[in-house]
Amino acid sequence: MTRNYHITFSREHGICCLFFWGCNLGCRICLLQKEAFDCHLPETRLKIYDPDYTGERPERFLALSELTRFLDPLPLKRTILMGAEPLCDPRLPDILGYLKEERHSAVTLLTNGKALPPFSLVDEVIFSLKALEPSLHRDYTGDDNREILENFRAIAVREDISLQTETVFIPGYVDEGEVLDIATFIASVDPTLPLRIDAYLPVSGLPWRAPESWQIEALAEKARAILPNTTFLHGRGGEEVLAYEVERIF
Ligand code: SF4
Repeated sequence: MTRNYHITFSREHGICCLFFWGCNLGCRICLLQKEAFDCHLPETRLKIYDPDYTGERPERFLALSELTRFLDPLPLKRTILMGAEPLCDPRLPDILGYLKEERHSAVTLLTNGKALPPFSLVDEVIFSLKALEPSLHRDYTGDDNREILENFRAIAVREDISLQTETVFIPGYVDEGEVLDIATFIASVDPTLPLRIDAYLPVSGLPWRAPESWQIEALAEKARAILPNTTFLHGRGGEEVLAYEVERIF
């Protein structure tokens, strides 16, 4: 069995998203507490902005043969591994072998960086940095960040991997100063790296609120002085136009 529980696909772009369950961190604000399924689908898209919404948990996982049967007919150009932490799936090397060797798909990995990926089977890494300050990182994720920062440096020096970074702006928790410290750390490794600042989506039972649009815009402007390739994602309560539509395959 794999830890894959969900597949979505963009026919327009040939982009497939594979969602994996299980993680080696325990983030307080984990979006999977709200929604485990692709939040670009029509049935999930607006619900994630409801602070009290909690979606269904995955109940069924695919065997490797079932997964490849779903993927075989899809014209894959790029496959994005996401969900919780794809590197926690013990069958990931088999899945990557299928994607790279049989399907010749480009592979993008979204990761928290707690483990290193099999570099020869991944083309692009989107590295999610939670916090730089050690006690904040431990409070946020339940774990230390020293190994994560070392892994970040190890990926950044590789010429065969395209690296992007992201972090979540949580006013009152991962505040403006912390996000700017994260930008400074990234710039110290490579000032050309891209950073996307995501707006926090409130999780039921936690005290923090989503940032206003102007707050995240102002923060991104300050971050660009440190890391010129900084963007942000606010979502604006679901009013933002999607770049492309996706359909549910499983
Ligand atoms: S690393 Fe990501 S998936 Fe894992 S607990 Fe944190 S937010 Fe959730």
